[in-house]
Formats: sequence, structure tokens, C-alpha cells
Amino acid sequence: MNKLFDIISKLFKKSRGKQMEEHKRKGIEEKARQTLEDANDKNDAMVDIINIANNLGFTVYNVEMEDSEDGFILVNEKENNIFGQETSKLIGVNLTRSAEWKRFIIAHEIGHYILYYNEEKNNGMFAHREHKTGKDEFENEIDFFAASLLVPAERFKKNLNELKKANLTKKEIIFILAERFRVERKIIERRFGELGLNE
Ligand SMILES: [Zn+2]
Repeated sequence: MNKLFDIISKLFKKSRGKQMEEHKRKGIEEKARQTLEDANDKNDAMVDIINIANNLGFTVYNVEMEDSEDGFILVNEKENNIFGQETSKLIGVNLTRSAEWKRFIIAHEIGHYILYYNEEKNNGMFAHREHKTGKDEFENEIDFFAASLLVPAERFKKNLNELKKANLTKKEIIFILAERFRVERKIIERRFGELGLNE
């Protein structure tokens, strides 16, 4: 009897967890969509990530950093100069990263800001540094926002449907989509899964 209870309770927890996750995912996709709309980003594919950062008041710059670090976000609403940059909101990216990777780092930092920064609660201040290792559930959620922002669901489906009409392999499709959205191929691969488009 106890064993059966354990199994049922585990199943219940599992399905409830999944439901919450889906609900959360939809919320995050919607926030990414709204962020694009607010910045008036209407391209067919590639997102202008710098424009989106600027639209939110951020200055983005390249920084010399340890190789284990991808970038950082720094907000100090009370200052108008951070690290010699005339801004109260700064995103720094490790200058050694590829252009595609940098775009993802910037989108990720925007995720920290959109999803979790609250001016009142943070007293106008927030700082976070990205390490390559040690990504937890929280950071994974922000990565999901970044992927949703750089490869918006509707644009992805539209481009994919168009490419599906041509006689291409999945590998070729991934390559073309990565070029069009200017992201690493692994981001395109994860979008297939996230949007339930894996056959
Ligand atoms: Zn992060």
C-alpha cells in the first residue's frame, strides 16, 4: 500500500512539475515576444540584439575577461557612468567569443533584466557575472529566454516551413537557419525541441 502511494505521489509530482514548466515556458516565450515588439524588431529572421539592448537603456561593450567568463550585467540607476561608459545600465561580453556566441550572451543578460530585475526590490542596483560552468535551473531558464529572444517562435516556424518545401536534410536546414538567425547551430537544435518540432 505504501509503495503504491509512493508511486502515485511520484507520478503526480512529475506531471505537476511538467505542467508548471510548460506554463512557465509559455510565459517566458511571451516576454521574449513582447521585448521584440517593444523594440519594434520586425525582421524576417535575425534579431537586432544590440538595438534591443539599447532600447532597454543598455550600453553593450567588449571586455577582456577570464576565459571561464562569458560576460556580465551591471545596473546602477543612481549612476550615469559605469566603468567609464556613460550609462547606468551596462552589458559586457568577453571579447574573445564568436559573434554568434556574443549575441547569445547579450540576450542572456537581457533575460536577467527582463525576467528578474525589479527596480524597487533591487534598489536600482543589480550585478551578475556569467561563468561557463555551474549553470543551475535558474540560469537555464534565462538561457531559454535568450533562445526565445534570438530565435522567436513564429519566425522560426515560418522559416522552417519555407525550408521544408525545398529538398534539404535536417542538417542543412539547421545550418541555413543558424545563418539566417545568426546564432550557433546548437541554439537552432534546441529550438526544434523547445517548440515541439522534432519528428
Ligand atoms: Zn546568467
